[in-house]
Amino acid sequence: MDIERFRVRPGSPVDLDAIPTRMPAWFKGDKESAKLANERLSQRIAELQTELHATGAAKVLIVLQGLDTSGKDSTTRRVFGAGSPLGIRVANFKRPSENELAHEYLWRVSALTPPDGEIAIFNRSHYEDVLVVRVDELAPEERWRRRFGHIVDFERRLVDEGTVVRKFYLHISHDEQRQRLQDRVDDPQKHWKFEPADLIARAKWDQYRVAYEEMLCLTSTEHAPWYVVPADQKWFRDLVVGTAVVSALEGIDMVWPQPAKGTAGITID
Ligand code: AMP
Ligand code: MG
Repeated sequence: MDIERFRVRPGSPVDLDAIPTRMPAWFKGDKESAKLANERLSQRIAELQTELHATGAAKVLIVLQGLDTSGKDSTTRRVFGAGSPLGIRVANFKRPSENELAHEYLWRVSALTPPDGEIAIFNRSHYEDVLVVRVDELAPEERWRRRFGHIVDFERRLVDEGTVVRKFYLHISHDEQRQRLQDRVDDPQKHWKFEPADLIARAKWDQYRVAYEEMLCLTSTEHAPWYVVPADQKWFRDLVVGTAVVSALEGIDMVWPQPAKGTAGITID
């Protein structure tokens, strides 16, 4: 699986309609082999995460963005679920509270960035401040437009201070979203996930497209890249995200700490 094919090159225009939401033709695997691969990836992430936690060698920030039903929750569960809760934190960014709104928009985000040894998963993120805020006109354009620059600088700062940042846009089709929303209406176990507001957002599909495309183009950087993940097939989505996460974690130089002074080789009575 060549993960580079999904990466957005900094500054290159993104046309989401031209990017498949299902597995691309060049992918030679199938669902069965991908499921086995996903189990291995999930175990590998758990191992690497344990090492990260023990060594404190870096901080890791994973950003998940996508429209309603694109699979942010289930990616979190399926890709990271084998890891230890001691070293993984999930931050769900909802509509800002009154207090959060009274601060500048990166305030609540900064507070949840990971410390050494931890993986933070942002389930939605500061990117909502250039997506829903733009589409729903919650701030004037001159204000949200400046945020592209702030965000690139903010992530630069995180990376300079020892954070590995990987960002995934979960790319679903209009029809797949229809099906998934319908399931939420029909299936009693999924009712809780359905909000009438999701239909209002769905009606703004084209505006979200434009907002996502510009955001991906302007904020995918060498230090904090975006990946556009075909997400109509959950197993393929997991394969792409899992592979990218393993590759990011394997890139961290993890050196096991030395024993505390004077404790090497001692016998415990
Ligand atoms: P969900 O992901 O289904 O739990 O929904 C969370 C909701 O919070 C979505 O409708 C987001 O658009 C909204 N949201 C998240 N961050 C912001 C933000 N910064 N400003 C406004 N709405 C937001
Ligand atoms: Mg929702």
